[in-house]
Amino acid sequence: MAETLKKRSEVPEQLKWDTSRIYKTPEDMLDALHKATQLSLDIEKKYKGNLKDGKTINECLAEYEKFLIEVAYVGEYTSLNVSVDYTDAEAQKLDSIATNEYMDGYSRLSFIESEISDAPEDVLKEALETATIGKHYLEDILRGKPHRLSAETEAAFVALSETFRAPYRMYEQTKLADMKFPDFEVNGKSYPLGYSLFEDDYEYERDTQIRRAAFTAFSNKLRDYMYTTAAEYGALVRTEKTLSKLTRYDSVFDYLLFGQKVTREMYDRQIDLIMEKLAPHMRKYARLLKKAHGLDKMTYADLKITLDPDYDPKVTIEKSKEYILDGLSIMGEDYQKMLKEAYEQRWIDFAQNVGKSTGGFCASPYRKGSFILLSWNERMSDVFTLAHELGHAGHFRACGEAQNYYNADVSTYVVEAPSTINELLMAEYLKEKSGDDKRFRRWVLASQISNTYYHNFVTHLLEAAYQREVYKLVDNGEAVPAEKLNEIFKGVLEKFWGDEVELTEGAELTWMRQPHYYMGLYSYCYSASLTIATQVMKRIRKEGAPAVEDWKKTLAAGGTVDPIAFAKMAGVDVTTDAALLDTIDYIGGIIDEIETLM
Ligand SMILES: [Zn+2]
Repeated sequence: MAETLKKRSEVPEQLKWDTSRIYKTPEDMLDALHKATQLSLDIEKKYKGNLKDGKTINECLAEYEKFLIEVAYVGEYTSLNVSVDYTDAEAQKLDSIATNEYMDGYSRLSFIESEISDAPEDVLKEALETATIGKHYLEDILRGKPHRLSAETEAAFVALSETFRAPYRMYEQTKLADMKFPDFEVNGKSYPLGYSLFEDDYEYERDTQIRRAAFTAFSNKLRDYMYTTAAEYGALVRTEKTLSKLTRYDSVFDYLLFGQKVTREMYDRQIDLIMEKLAPHMRKYARLLKKAHGLDKMTYADLKITLDPDYDPKVTIEKSKEYILDGLSIMGEDYQKMLKEAYEQRWIDFAQNVGKSTGGFCASPYRKGSFILLSWNERMSDVFTLAHELGHAGHFRACGEAQNYYNADVSTYVVEAPSTINELLMAEYLKEKSGDDKRFRRWVLASQISNTYYHNFVTHLLEAAYQREVYKLVDNGEAVPAEKLNEIFKGVLEKFWGDEVELTEGAELTWMRQPHYYMGLYSYCYSASLTIATQVMKRIRKEGAPAVEDWKKTLAAGGTVDPIAFAKMAGVDVTTDAALLDTIDYIGGIIDEIETLM
């Protein structure tokens, strides 16, 4: 953390991703954008008011696909360039110019959905029967028909879409721009504090005094913004409730789950079972952490520490390639080819530089390979992050190759399965490699808990449990002031951790930290995806090639299947609680093994 960061311009080429795979230059991008705008004008002229028969509808959708693909490229290109350097004013400018232009195109073409949705039943049927590329898109329109409002109202919604996003914008501003963290002191020594400094470093700090002091200082600053943040969040959930009523959903849950194609039962089960059945295992894990670190007590501020902080093998980028290729070799030759391409064609932005976005993500513009953002710290955990992001890359490559653009979107319920399964395969590979090295094996097992499962089955799941309580109140027309949010979050934590973990003052403010709440019912999906991933990984380990083949076919299906069918293709039944219960057992087994290795 002491090293001063390089400027983006000083970073060597080979550590940066290569956006010229999308456009060679910004001028090329603008050129393509203007052509797409012209295309939107042509489509409007030719088809507006004319989508009256199946043939015309399908012709229009074929043209519309070209527009959608091109503006998606433009959007990716400009936002990728911003994400690697937020201090680059030129990149920001280009991004906003491009966004303004293509948003105009989108609203110009919003008539397509409206006219199709308003078309008589027999026309829609004809369009569906003769559909070449837009079948899935048409089915979705048909499915959403009972919830569609008049074309005028829908257009007003599109025009107001920025306003609907305002709570999230305000939340980000509060968190990233307004909150200024003062230094904190431990034993007369002063330590700097910041949002990501706390979440990326201090939460994992092995010195208990510093770690706990950082938590308190961080929480105190959060508390200063508690009412603002609650107002922003409250505005969002009330808007969602209003929209759910206007669009004739029975509840705000139905409204939010509709796009995911997930039943209320699947959603509730995920939260209920994990809260009840995983909790005892995780309490045991907390006890192991306490023991390993010789702590006086286990507090909420201690939960992120690793079991064995002295053991942290260093990994160079070159070495990571070996791990990735070997660890994921079970996925077969074509997958290996993609992994090599990812390194050779610079899909990955390894750099650490001023203004670069934190965390990691994988963007996959249609049929153009992927762009993976991370910050390489030479840690083994970076290899897991990379395996994870390459899982997204493999998914979108498979469905991009097999599907048209309309079919390449995927439900959030399953979207983290291809990424988390790669983490699991990597862990299995490392366990195999560990041989008699018990410490290494314990380290791998502990990483599986502290990274993969903690993140997806605990952190995000507790958020989901909290979120469900909030929406229940909102559904009943009740208010959700800051104090109420604190009370709900604290209640969830108490229920999960019981007496095992002391809830440090400030733990109740954890609801202020998560941007997911501004993305609908997203938090619970992590554990849903990882449930599928765990089951498929176990199947691959047991059955080998046939299971891998099924998994690849599943990846290629893209948005043509709903989550239940997706899981089924991979050999997993998510209509009952069996898969989840088995996954919880698997997690329990890892924790038991860690205990025996201690
Ligand atoms: Zn992911």
